Amino acid sequence: MEKVFYCHDCNISFIQDGDGICPRCGKKAIVLPVSVDQWNALDEAGKENVKRAAFNNRESNSQVAISADKKVSENGKKTESISRTLYVVAAVMYIICSAMLYKGYDKLTNYYNSENYISLNKNAYVGGDAYNYIINGTYATSFFVLAMGFLITGTLFILGGIYFKNKK
Ligand SMILES: [Zn+2]
Repeated sequence: MEKVFYCHDCNISFIQDGDGICPRCGKKAIVLPVSVDQWNALDEAGKENVKRAAFNNRESNSQVAISADKKVSENGKKTESISRTLYVVAAVMYIICSAMLYKGYDKLTNYYNSENYISLNKNAYVGGDAYNYIINGTYATSFFVLAMGFLITGTLFILGGIYFKNKK
């Protein structure tokens, strides 16, 4: 379909059935928001008005596009740093989780109760072995529950980090 184009640099208007490359300077021209018939029906003053309006409109449109671009990249930087923070917190959660797992496993497997040398004792609290096993069992359960809590929390932080990283 033929459209009316206007090259601001050469100050010419032309009708073309193409992509609006100016026949004089070879640059891309502005499309005028009128049909060929409407254009031909306009007098010189009317044509000037259409050209000026289209040119001013193009300027402000490109400015809007530039500021929108800037905003997008600023937002990108912000979400990038949020996701980095979330990953760091997740790493801390995982480290605490492994510490809890280690402590729970230790309560479960390391037990020694010496009658004579108290310094040899491992995870012994009172005289009777049965009591100590019960106490260690409770400790182990508590530490594993804590470990799971930190594991889940850390995973949520990682998911949050992925979410913010992909959010544009
Ligand atoms: Zn031109």
